[in-house]
Parts: sequence; structure tokens; C-alpha cells
Amino acid sequence: MSRPDSLDRVRRRARDCRDCGLWREATQTVFGEGPHSAAIMLVGEQPGDREDRAGRPVVGPAGRVLDEALEVASIDRAALYTTNAVKHFKFRERGKRRIHQRPSVGEIDACLQWLRAEIELVSPRVVVALGASAAHALMGRATAIGANRGHPLEGALFSPVVVTAHPSSVLRERDREARGAALAQLGEDLRLAAEIARAAPENGRA
Ligand code: SF4
Repeated sequence: MSRPDSLDRVRRRARDCRDCGLWREATQTVFGEGPHSAAIMLVGEQPGDREDRAGRPVVGPAGRVLDEALEVASIDRAALYTTNAVKHFKFRERGKRRIHQRPSVGEIDACLQWLRAEIELVSPRVVVALGASAAHALMGRATAIGANRGHPLEGALFSPVVVTAHPSSVLRERDREARGAALAQLGEDLRLAAEIARAAPENGRA
């Protein structure tokens, strides 16, 4: 892909991407959204069922968890650029339901061109990886969340990266207490990202 000159132009190109097989079953390309000069970029895994239909990243139940965690961290979501590592929904059908499936490394790699372009054009001060697939895309290798959260990391695609759990994982916790703890931890990681963004005099880049 030649170097893009605007996010809107890249977004239009991504609509017609056929660089892996995920476009076939998905409704649409779900590109990132938010201010084009956001200091913080959030990167999720891939669109889920709601995101695929709405054409917007990190909405639906996971989006509501993210909103709660942002409130914990006193961050205004409208100030963030939010996107996914993979831009098409991957799923298998079970009856009428579409069950999320984790993207493969090959699919993450194929889609990296769009994330790279978003990072280049937004030029954030810090990027937050929400979950293992996003961490893989940004770090350039498999990166365990539990062992790497809580401090900034040097990624292959960008630095600094803060890794944290995907908001949907909070919903999968077994009980209310565990969900509360997971939400608080997510909020702490987002607060760390906000501190890094505040302290950074210039936008970082790997
Ligand atoms: S998932 Fe990414 S690489 Fe695959 S077709 Fe969609 S936009 Fe292209």
C-alpha cells in the first residue's frame, strides 16, 4: 500500500480490502474512529457481532464495559481514537447466533497495514492494546497480558504500548466480585496510559 495522506482516504481504501478471507462473511469493514490527533489510541481485537452490524469499533456490551473503565480512569472516550487490530468480524454460526472466533496470526498480519496507517496518521502518544490479539499486532509477537500489564512496553509497531485485557473478558468473569476486580484493573491500565500521554512531550514511534 502506498503511503496514505489522510485517514478518510485510508478508510475508503479499507472498505474494499480483500487481503484475507474475513471480508467474505462479515457485513462491512469496521475502521477506527475518533479525533485524528488523539493522544491515546485504543486497539481492540476485531469487530464483534454488534460492531459488525453498526460499523463502529468497541460498541455493544464490551463497549459499555470500556465506558465504565474509562470513567474509573477519568478519561473522556470522545478524546480517544478507537480501532481494532483486525477490521472484519470473524465468527462461526451456531443456529441464529454468530459466535466470535479469534483471528489467526496470518489474519492479524494481513490487516496490520490498516493499523499501521492509522498509527502513522493519528500519531498518538501512547497506544493501548485491548487483549492478546491487539498486543500481538502491536508488539510483533505473542504477548501475555497478565505478565506485561502495568508498565509501558516497546512494541514493534509503536512505542510506548500499554497492554491490558479486552473489555469483553470482564463480562466473562465468573461472579460480580471478579468482574469488579477485572474492571478496576482495566481502569488502572487506562489511567497509566493517560499518565504516559500527559507526560509525553512529543508523539512516540517505534
Ligand atoms: S480483515 Fe483486514 S486484511 Fe482481512 S479483508 Fe478485512 S480489512 Fe482486509
